[in-house]
Amino acid sequence: MPHVIDASLCTLCGLCAEVCPNDAISEGEDAYVIDPELCTDCDLCTEECPVEAISEQ
Ligand code: SF4
Ligand code: SF4
Repeated sequence: MPHVIDASLCTLCGLCAEVCPNDAISEGEDAYVIDPELCTDCDLCTEECPVEAISEQ
């Protein structure tokens, strides 16, 4: 399943977007967001997020 970002936890640090090999993560209005069409579930962003805001849907 695609990964999702919990907007209530995201601090907009941008680290996840830097590591995503598929450019699936972009900056939204209140939080970074993951495009489910581009996410390949590699888990790199999950490991990178300092506040554990990213999980599998
Ligand atoms: S799991 Fe991998 S492909 Fe999906 S958003 Fe995170 S870094 Fe990108
Ligand atoms: S790494 Fe975590 S806190 Fe930083 S932008 Fe991504 S989801 Fe938000």
